[in-house]
Amino acid sequence: MQKWNLVFDVALCTGCQNCVLAVQDEYQGNEFPGYAAEMPRHGPKWFDIERRERGEFPAVDVAHRARCCQHCDQAPCREAASGGAVKKRDDGIVVIDPVLSRGQKPIADACPFGAAHWDEARAITQHWNFDAHLLDAGWKEPRPVQACPTGALRSLKLEDEAMQRLAAEQGLVRTAGGEARGTRVWYRNLTRFTHAFAAGTLVGLEAGLDACVAGAQVRLARAGEPVASARSDAFGDFRFDHLPPASEGWRIDIEAHGYHLRIVEFNLKASCWLGEIRLEPA
Ligand code: SF4
Ligand code: SF4
Repeated sequence: MQKWNLVFDVALCTGCQNCVLAVQDEYQGNEFPGYAAEMPRHGPKWFDIERRERGEFPAVDVAHRARCCQHCDQAPCREAASGGAVKKRDDGIVVIDPVLSRGQKPIADACPFGAAHWDEARAITQHWNFDAHLLDAGWKEPRPVQACPTGALRSLKLEDEAMQRLAAEQGLVRTAGGEARGTRVWYRNLTRFTHAFAAGTLVGLEAGLDACVAGAQVRLARAGEPVASARSDAFGDFRFDHLPPASEGWRIDIEAHGYHLRIVEFNLKASCWLGEIRLEPA
């Protein structure tokens, strides 16, 4: 049986919010009996893009992550529901029935991913249901995927084994806690959002003036084990990404033609710029 999956690529998302607006457009002012009640105009978004700024001037970037219902195979919201208010469909989609869920706040409270929202005015729990009403009407993809201009969002209907193979091939991972729940939202390049970078700028002397040191070999190690290597660019900049935050024992060895070897040791709290690193002429 083929089932739906959503794939979100952190590296391709620009944070444009088209996907968020598409879901709001679909559900605000509209209801779909058996699938969803109206989405409140104020309050949590059923499909949202989180934003995280990393680093410090001048080495700064921004990463985004989609937050929505994960369509868990072992869904805590379903376990908390009574009277069949939460259904797991054969195609993998979880639907919270807008009538049967009335008065059942425990459905919202049970979601460990912050993706089920209690609508106080209607006394129901709501979530993004993968646009199941559109897929059942023959749509090939849900609206946020259709609205995404960069390909950061993809929807795939595959057998679970095929999805697992694709995840292994493309380095897709589930969100924290997702393995145990069998979540159906997959993330690519997630460490761009969850992890840290260390960057720096190499400076030397040329003809008595400060100059960027380009093409230097920069090797990163931790506890004596090589981790990565890079070359400084035309501006003397280098960067190592996907490093675990709040980690200690890092060391950088810098080799550049015409300069002495320079070693920098540091601990990493969060993404950081190691500053201008001055190389001494050999
Ligand atoms: S993410 Fe939350 S609302 Fe969605 S299926 Fe899982 S437990 Fe239920
Ligand atoms: S539409 Fe695509 S690029 Fe824009 S915020 Fe959503 S996922 Fe990111």
